[in-house]
Amino acid sequence: MTTLYSRIPSTDRLLRDEAFATLLTLFGHNRVTQVLHQLQDEAREQIRQQQTLPDWCDAWASETKKRLEQCSTSALRPVFNLSGTVLHTNLGRAVQPQAAVDAVAAVMGSATTLEYDLDGAGRGHRDRALADLLCQLTGAEDACIVNNNAAAVLLMLASTAAGREVVVSRGELVEIGGAFRVPDVMRQAGCELHEVGTTNRTHAKDYRQAINDNTALLMKVHTSNYHIDGFTAAVDEAELVTLAEAAGLPVIVDLGSGSLVDLSRYGLPKEPMPQTLIAAGVSLVSFSGDKLLGGPQAGIIVGKKALIAQLQQHPLKRALRADKMTLAALEATLRLYLHPETLPQRLPTLRYLTRPEPEIREQARRLCVALSARYSEFDLRVEACLSQIGSGSLPVDRLPGAAVTFTPRDGSGRRLEALAAQWRTLPQPVIGRIYDGRLWLDCRCLDDESRLLEMLLK
Ligand SMILES: *Cc1c(COP(=O)(O)O)cnc(C)c1O
Repeated sequence: MTTLYSRIPSTDRLLRDEAFATLLTLFGHNRVTQVLHQLQDEAREQIRQQQTLPDWCDAWASETKKRLEQCSTSALRPVFNLSGTVLHTNLGRAVQPQAAVDAVAAVMGSATTLEYDLDGAGRGHRDRALADLLCQLTGAEDACIVNNNAAAVLLMLASTAAGREVVVSRGELVEIGGAFRVPDVMRQAGCELHEVGTTNRTHAKDYRQAINDNTALLMKVHTSNYHIDGFTAAVDEAELVTLAEAAGLPVIVDLGSGSLVDLSRYGLPKEPMPQTLIAAGVSLVSFSGDKLLGGPQAGIIVGKKALIAQLQQHPLKRALRADKMTLAALEATLRLYLHPETLPQRLPTLRYLTRPEPEIREQARRLCVALSARYSEFDLRVEACLSQIGSGSLPVDRLPGAAVTFTPRDGSGRRLEALAAQWRTLPQPVIGRIYDGRLWLDCRCLDDESRLLEMLLK
């Protein structure tokens, strides 16, 4: 055993080795010695437990290189989203349009006109360019951009209703997931929630009776992630605006997803649009940048000039503002909306949502043929499936598509888990969904078929 220990070379001796010279240049002295110490510890441990040396003990340099490379792979990695959920929050929601990718690259490596007015050489407003575009698209008077829609709701409430009451229907006290619950955000913003109506029915008179001297505004929250059916009643925005105006109060709406185009023109279920609410006279409307809009994570607020000015001047705006990369990506995304005819080709989110079922099925069929031999322990089939939009958008609507399914021939659930785990370790991991004894690869969001095959045939 002592002889085995003596076969572990010293750090100094190893570092003098020619093979380590490149590693030292590439990774630096600290990291290389750190890994070497770790390897030496592992070798000693194996001798102690098994009285053998690890296999790599005749190739210290290549093992060190392998370990260093493993640690250098980024934690944020591109994956194949074949989960069947188009806007998957854990997978980063919307895939950005190429125009946004290019715009971000352009502003990242250079000084930009973020808050600089080229005409007057004065200090511009960082949301200015985007606000003009948003006004054009929604008919609003002005706009404000923050980090995400949760931030947008917080900022709207804090700057227009702190210390006062906000009237909301009991049917709209939504939890979006994670820590976003309307009553909690209300408290954080320093407002007092005044609930009206019941879970299933709220009427105009409920709002009217709630209004008092301390009321700041009436609020509506789009119940984006659930659906109540049956004996229901809600007051629509136009009616709410009429009754709020009679009391001299603003109406604000948290729209959640919010689509800037009428999705029914692409054969998709209708989702409320900010421009409709602005036309109905709503004072402020907020929505997400990375849900149905298909852009970067951002919170967009459009509405009346005076109220937006109040938001822009609030100290929270400084804390919640978006950076130049987000603004660049959002501007590029919004520009695509100026040309709605080409939107399904140029906006990945809409492209995935509108892909014809036969095209997806054909793709699944090609994959099934190409993969069958390699995965002989599984029964591969093309099966119909229903994709989800995700991120709480259009919760009850499912899109018919197709998937390649992998059923273990021996019916073993462990084998299924092992397959899913193996695909997660690929250079570009493949994320499917285990359901009903099978692993499903929903092809709806698959762009790069040959890269996927390269991964799965490894
Ligand atoms: C998604 C959603 C939010 C939160 O938006 P983020 O952009 O994820 O912060 C808030 N309200 C509603 C109604 C939503 O659907």
